[in-house]
Amino acid sequence: MGNLINNELVYTVKDRCRVCYTCVRECPVKAIKIINGQAEVILSRCIGCGNCTKVCSQQAKQYIDTTKNIFQYFESKQTVVAMVAPSFPAEFSEIDDYRLFIGMLRKLGFRYVVEVGFGADVVAREYEKVMDDEDAEKTISSDCPAIAYYVRHYHPELTDSLAPIVSPMVAMHRIVNKKYGEDLKTVFIGPCIAKKAESKEVDQVITFSELRAMFEKTGITANQIEPSDFDAPKAGRASIFPITRGKLNAMKKSDHICDENIIVASGRIHFKEAIKEFAEDLNKSQHLELLCCEGCIMGPGMTSKGKIFSKTASIRNYVRLKLQNLDREEWKKEFDTFKDLDYSQQFVPSDRRIETPAIDIITGVLEKMGKIQAEDHLNCGACGYDTCFEHAVAIVEGLAEIEMCLPYTIEKLHNSVKDLNLSNEKLASAQMSLKQSEKLANMGQLSAGIAHELNNPLGIITMYSGILKDEAPVDSPIHKDLELIVEQADRCKKIVGGLLNFARKNQVKLVETNIITFTHHSIDSIIVPENIKIDFHSDMTNPFAFIDNDQWMQVLTNIEKNAIEAMPDGGTLSVNLSESDGDVEFAIADTGVGISKENLDKIFTPFFTTKPIGKGTGLGLPLIYGIVKKHNGQVNVETNDDLSQGPTGTCFRIVIPRQRKV
Ligand code: ADP
Ligand code: MG
Repeated sequence: MGNLINNELVYTVKDRCRVCYTCVRECPVKAIKIINGQAEVILSRCIGCGNCTKVCSQQAKQYIDTTKNIFQYFESKQTVVAMVAPSFPAEFSEIDDYRLFIGMLRKLGFRYVVEVGFGADVVAREYEKVMDDEDAEKTISSDCPAIAYYVRHYHPELTDSLAPIVSPMVAMHRIVNKKYGEDLKTVFIGPCIAKKAESKEVDQVITFSELRAMFEKTGITANQIEPSDFDAPKAGRASIFPITRGKLNAMKKSDHICDENIIVASGRIHFKEAIKEFAEDLNKSQHLELLCCEGCIMGPGMTSKGKIFSKTASIRNYVRLKLQNLDREEWKKEFDTFKDLDYSQQFVPSDRRIETPAIDIITGVLEKMGKIQAEDHLNCGACGYDTCFEHAVAIVEGLAEIEMCLPYTIEKLHNSVKDLNLSNEKLASAQMSLKQSEKLANMGQLSAGIAHELNNPLGIITMYSGILKDEAPVDSPIHKDLELIVEQADRCKKIVGGLLNFARKNQVKLVETNIITFTHHSIDSIIVPENIKIDFHSDMTNPFAFIDNDQWMQVLTNIEKNAIEAMPDGGTLSVNLSESDGDVEFAIADTGVGISKENLDKIFTPFFTTKPIGKGTGLGLPLIYGIVKKHNGQVNVETNDDLSQGPTGTCFRIVIPRQRKV
């Protein structure tokens, strides 16, 4: 059996899918699941309308190809009947004479070529019977298989309203069997994918696109083809079926406001709306004449996807010509022969609805997407769902993902950009510190070299000038000169000592130390002028931390000396100790002159000093910086040198980890 009921008609070619959600948006029953950024058709929800195959610009949605089955029929010499849908003139409009098209089908291997339009003629009469019966319940047309599936799956309560009439395709199959015998294979050729899963009776269903592929494969074109007409029975007026309102036209009925109780709707939005209203507002008071596509001429099995008006015109022209040439007597004879076959069909409900999840679960998902207030529901449709609520329901049902929400994803991207900027800033600051360290290391190396070379001659100068000074009589002018030499040589020794200190590469020797006592001691070891008040304070509950005692003494005394030198007219030197999260903080503040903005950038640069010659070397802070870094700590400076901005002064804040981390 060639029918594909319960088979996957449409599938995704994963490599081609660019996850644009257009298929989700266009799927009338949301049978497309997005998981891990991949679109997947859910067989149990699909109604085979093929909308997704029409709208996918990447051709990532394909339908099952069954042409090989037909080639097999030909190879095994079976009698094969082509049952051509009445929409064929809209597909093969480039062939001037339709009889060439029939010739091509015969050349391909079809023994008989018949018009499904005749099936439509008899089906139209069946519909007429139902619609003319005033007392009978109103129906939903059932000749479009996607509509029949939709009702059975998604409005199972309306299954009994589906007109209990077979489609023109099945009607034609029964007619062919009656006329040409049952020992043959019927192949429906049309614009529809859903037809592949419509009936167990018809052997095969292929689309016009598939037929074109068969012509191409066998090299059959309209050139040098023997024209040939359709086999009996020839179709009549119902050949107009494939355009919207075609069936009403065939029945000589209309959906005019005052004339009939028939509502016509086609296309994925309107057919759903009509069915919904049929049940609710219309209360089944009108017949529904429905097509899933905008007429069969817009079916997914047509090669060209647009041009609805040109296609309509092709059908009209074909039917007009056909009716002009129709042998009406012959048609009537055939019609009477077949009009009393059984054209009935029963539909059974097959509920595929998913129970709507609990509202609090949906609300939870909406909150995750940042949709808390009513105004957060943008309902932009970018995800493929009409509303944010529907999207959230689909997420709970496992059909969609949060990332499909464009505003949510944009927000997330913004946050990532912010985080990245932050990391960038941190990186830039780390780079700066690295540069500073590198500069210091270079300076250190240079200084160490110079200092080392200078130390010995300086020692000799100091020693001999000292001896000479002691030997010279105090009142001689040489004594004064020698005194100056000794003084300046001492100064040189100090500078060289500082350089050696600064350049010292030795590792830190961390020792557990009582920080409170240690800091007290640092203050005791400097000379504090009388006009300076010392304000010592500690918040530490655990005074112990690991420091290199010698180096840390240099850190504290250097900062304290700087502070005192910044307060020539007196002031307060505050020393504050505190602790937090395994760190120890030293805050050493003065009420001195402060540091100007332009100098603040330079104070850690070796030899930068604002002090007069002989007073400053500019090596204190670079030394401090190096030691603090070796302790895995940080130095920060807060300062104000502008009285109009408040009291002037400077605070050096040093934070180091309490435990050894080096
Ligand atoms: P020096 O003390 O030899 O000048 P430092 O490296 O210790 O070298 O300090 C560099 C410069 O930083 C000082 O000359 C001074 O301009 C400035 N400075 C340091 N500490 C203070 C402070 N507490 N108040 C004002 N200026 C300061
Ligand atoms: Mg100093």
